[in-house]
Amino acid sequence: MNRIADELPRLAAEGRLYPSVIVSGGTTDDRLGLAFEIGRALLCERAPQERPCGECGHCRRVDKDRYASEARAKAASEKKGGKADEENDEGVRQGHPDFLLLERPPARRDIRIGMVRPLVRAAQMSPFEARGQVFVIADANTLNPHGANTLLKTLEEPTGTTPRHFLLLAASAQELLPTLRSRSLTVYLGPGDAHVAPDDGQTTDLVEHWRRRPSDASSALWTAGLTDRLVAIGGKDLDDVRARRGWNRAARAVTEAAGTLDDRDDRAAALALASDLLDAHRLRERYIQPRRIIEGLAARRLRRDRPETGFESSVNVLMGPP
Ligand SMILES: [Zn+2]
Repeated sequence: MNRIADELPRLAAEGRLYPSVIVSGGTTDDRLGLAFEIGRALLCERAPQERPCGECGHCRRVDKDRYASEARAKAASEKKGGKADEENDEGVRQGHPDFLLLERPPARRDIRIGMVRPLVRAAQMSPFEARGQVFVIADANTLNPHGANTLLKTLEEPTGTTPRHFLLLAASAQELLPTLRSRSLTVYLGPGDAHVAPDDGQTTDLVEHWRRRPSDASSALWTAGLTDRLVAIGGKDLDDVRARRGWNRAARAVTEAAGTLDDRDDRAAALALASDLLDAHRLRERYIQPRRIIEGLAARRLRRDRPETGFESSVNVLMGPP
């Protein structure tokens, strides 16, 4: 974590924290951990300079919420792949009555308006016990448009005298509505799980494949092999139209492969492809299949004879000229 992240709990303890804060970057654990820390600082009953004390009833119940959240994350990762049995999960978590954590249920791709409503209702009431209220939305980037707009209306309402704080957690602030961003303080925790290194074996395999790049008609086959490898490296994240993580992993693997190439033109082409892959989520947002995206990008960067055809030209339209 960085200095800004250390600063936030202090601002919260002193009652000077902005009402809506977007916590972006870092890992999922970094973002959630900071949210709980800020929550304790906001609700702790001690004098400002002692917040969070970690001992009062408020601090302890926020901690309890934290352990429960960690246990759920662990359980979810252990039964990954299995059919989640949380179809009716409302998503709102509550141990401390004035600290509400909204998490996207693992079985769902987005946070729907029905999950946002309990939080919005609570925000219209006075705190139960503490000095103020804290609302945390994990994966705020997965709020669907209705949910995001409902939340926005609540942010725009006057708060009265009791402090009310919203913490919106997202890997990238850019994935939140501009209107939400303009009403919030955005804090970036630095590169986190968006920069997870690809698996070593996968990268070695990609590098080997790259070195065998043909200069003739078999290049279509070679491109298909390259696509397979990049899809494997990107993993399931490539299916998520909002996630950039998989694209970042693929881009990083291609950058590493570029470093091993002897031919200068090959190296330049690989680096250009890597930079395209960093932007490829823009194509994915149009629901183009990951495999098609990679093939299109590879074609536009790697063909030695460069007649522009089919999907390559539509990629050029969407991404700009190569
Ligand atoms: Zn305390």
